Amino acid sequence: MSILTGMETLSAFSLTQEDWHNLLLSEGGTVHLLPFWLDGLYKDRSIWTKHVSASLLQRLEDKLDFSLPQISQVQESQDGTVKFLIRFKDQFEVETVLIPFHKRFTVCLSTQVGCGMNCSFCYTGTQGLKRNLTSGEIVGQYMVAMNWLKQKNPKSLKPSIVFMGQGEPLHNASEVSRAIKIFNNTKLLDIGHRQMTLSTVGFLPGLKLLKDFPSINLALSLHSPFDQQRKSLIPINERFPLNEVMQELDHLTSLKKRIITYEYLLIKDFNMSDSHVEELYQLLGKRPAVLNLIPFNPFPGSNWERPEREEIDAFKEKLVAKKLRVMVRTTKGADILAACGQLKVNKLARKNGTH
Ligand code: SAH
Repeated sequence: MSILTGMETLSAFSLTQEDWHNLLLSEGGTVHLLPFWLDGLYKDRSIWTKHVSASLLQRLEDKLDFSLPQISQVQESQDGTVKFLIRFKDQFEVETVLIPFHKRFTVCLSTQVGCGMNCSFCYTGTQGLKRNLTSGEIVGQYMVAMNWLKQKNPKSLKPSIVFMGQGEPLHNASEVSRAIKIFNNTKLLDIGHRQMTLSTVGFLPGLKLLKDFPSINLALSLHSPFDQQRKSLIPINERFPLNEVMQELDHLTSLKKRIITYEYLLIKDFNMSDSHVEELYQLLGKRPAVLNLIPFNPFPGSNWERPEREEIDAFKEKLVAKKLRVMVRTTKGADILAACGQLKVNKLARKNGTH
């Protein structure tokens, strides 16, 4: 790959270890320089002062963009969730969310500006797809969130990652896969592959590429075990029906021996009947699966309803009685529209000061 041929200056955060190796050598650096260079980039730039010559640094700065995306807004929820509005060079914005768990945060990254999947229950979908993010912009979001955390508390652990922000990650598979390599590499960001989870609607062409990704956790947005009903929620199910998606997932599990999480949106009076329990059992009973129930999070203009606590518990118990492994996802950040499915950049509303 030629890394320096695009119209725009390439982000330094979109380069893999191999790219850096090649670039440093071609710019007159030595192999021994590589670890210092990478530590300087990802940990502490003062390392460069000691190990990198001013002329080499200048040449690299002329070729690459070392800046990170801008934070244009920060909102903090009562439960500790932090939502950033992140602005890129071309002024497009996405949301990136830090979610507190016991000892460390998880960062929820966006992979596209908007989303082209148009799922009927998701706020991002109403925005349409504006463009894909580059690997540098995906890694950039992480760096911005991590730096913000570090400033608050220098001892904070590196956040783990979920690709569950705006966008369908497998609709932008090549940039997402490149970002995962950069995250996962021990010389770069060093985030373990089990510290990363990618969630997909089942975008089949991207799913087929997953076998070549570092083996991170995978979640499928299932939402209904019935093809017709799933189609009404996730239009792409028309092109890539559930049975074909499941075949591909089976192939992946046999290849990589992993458990897949099935995300299941809980919508009142819609997908929580006994026949849903039975069909979920038929679908997942013999598969290495965890079912993650997500009570619907409302957003402005949404016309689905969130079930009551008792309905959620009753549905869960019926699934547990079938010996399925079930978890209920707790909602975080709903007061700042930062929960699952609530991410949308609404320029107009922001201008009016209502968002
Ligand atoms: N496009 C990917 C990743 C982004 S969404 C995907 O769909 O999997 C991350 C999760 O939030 C998905 O499981 C999605 O179905 C869920 N979600 C979307 N809208 C939601 C809403 N309004 N309430 C609760 N969860 C929602």
